[in-house]
Amino acid sequence: MSDLQADVVVIGAGPGGYSAAFRAADLGKKVILIDRSATLGGVCLNVGCIPSKALLHVAKVISEAAETPGVRFGTPELDLPALRDWKNSVVAKLTKGLTTLAKQRKVTVLNGQAQFASPNSVRVEMADGTTTVSFEHGIIAAGSSVTRIPGFPYDDPRLMDSTGALALDDVPCKLLVIGGGIIGLEMATVYQAFGSQVTVVEWMDQLIPGADADLVKPLATRLAKQKVRVLLKTKVTRLESLSNGLRATFEGPEAPEAAAYDRVLVAVGRRPNGLAINAEAAGVKVDDRGFIPVDGQMRTNVPHIFAIGDISGEPMLAHKASHEGKLAAEVVAGHKVSFQARTIPSVAYTDPEISWAGVTENAAKKQGLDIEKAIFPWAACGRAITIGRDEGLTKLIIDKKTRRIIGAGIVGAGAGELIAEVVVAMELDAEVGDLALAIHPHPTLSETIALAAEIAEGSITDIYLPKK
Ligand code: NAD
Repeated sequence: MSDLQADVVVIGAGPGGYSAAFRAADLGKKVILIDRSATLGGVCLNVGCIPSKALLHVAKVISEAAETPGVRFGTPELDLPALRDWKNSVVAKLTKGLTTLAKQRKVTVLNGQAQFASPNSVRVEMADGTTTVSFEHGIIAAGSSVTRIPGFPYDDPRLMDSTGALALDDVPCKLLVIGGGIIGLEMATVYQAFGSQVTVVEWMDQLIPGADADLVKPLATRLAKQKVRVLLKTKVTRLESLSNGLRATFEGPEAPEAAAYDRVLVAVGRRPNGLAINAEAAGVKVDDRGFIPVDGQMRTNVPHIFAIGDISGEPMLAHKASHEGKLAAEVVAGHKVSFQARTIPSVAYTDPEISWAGVTENAAKKQGLDIEKAIFPWAACGRAITIGRDEGLTKLIIDKKTRRIIGAGIVGAGAGELIAEVVVAMELDAEVGDLALAIHPHPTLSETIALAAEIAEGSITDIYLPKK
């Protein structure tokens, strides 16, 4: 006999899980949402997207103030306790909001670790004992965990993952960031602005290896100007705890001498949590890496159990998870829907920001697609010049035959906001001419999208292109 019964049980209350739970409740289901953390929101709200954006905002204010033309500000003074309190209050506002939303929908929230006990039940270990919940439909939204590099001294608090870096215990004089991906570079941006001397180690030959090189270049140039040291094609082979810091030994064609750092952040990716939920008790297949394979309706091999978000495959992004969560809830409610998003945009909230959607230029070349690209340099964008940030560029990737937009990449201030326009254009199957003909407000950064489209159309007047 189970202690509790639900139409739908959702394991994990991150953006994927809470969206699934709320949508299922709105569609008339009795829902139990389970999470091991005391607050709803998962990694994204509690120790990921949101606190990092709060700190990045402060970092941006510091660097913008320092670069404001014609005004001299004093040296910024960090009040770390106040900064931490503010960041925590931002997180609390959102997680409390989720608790209210759950209550309004009569979603029961259980705070505990859930494991499958059978195909129709989960056992939940809570602070005050164990509960069994039986369900008709299950939605697994148990997320991912940070990848660790074996052999590192993880008992040393100076060795951090993203959660530790966001805790902002102090501002180290020397910070080593291992992994030049999105987390590594967002945290490098924060700590550089707060006064750390930052070194980033990336084992590939480019920062953010998934993005096109031309988009990454302005970021790399700015990091170099800010004296952030970037070591490409480099690995940290050894990390030792010493009294004066963590001593890193490097390997690679241009590897420097071993050196000690006050703190080290490891940001080399995340692994899905599929192996931690006793999925075999439900008969749910999990692959060796911990991903749970799903079909186009987010269904696992067990027809009444769904998997969404990081655990169901790349890209591990909150907006993919929430979209999939709603979809799974709708399938549970009998709607005839399937995952048909044209594109899932990616954004690095660095300074400058980098965003891309659809096919990248690299991927298009690898796939042998017949494409045309159009790049509008922000050096010719009035608005970019007025904000002192004209290093950006906006790139459109166009299918040569159909003239449809199949990809876009933007680097520059607000690139994360700007990419949404191209996402909508792609969803609406727009041709590049549609973007060129849509009147954009002047002077804005959004104009760069229309101007890139005008380059593709041959109608640009803002720059001179010699006749072909
Ligand atoms: P990532 O995959 O973006 O980057 C990891 C980087 O580390 C890669 O560039 C990789 O080549 C490098 N690397 C791997 N092993 C290494 C090693 N031993 N030494 C040196 N470099 C090594 O992963 P992440 O930055 O840790 O982020 C984790 C996940 O969270 C990703 O899926 C990311 O998309 C997501 N995330 C998204 C956002 C956002 O949308 N803004 C922000 C943070 C995280």
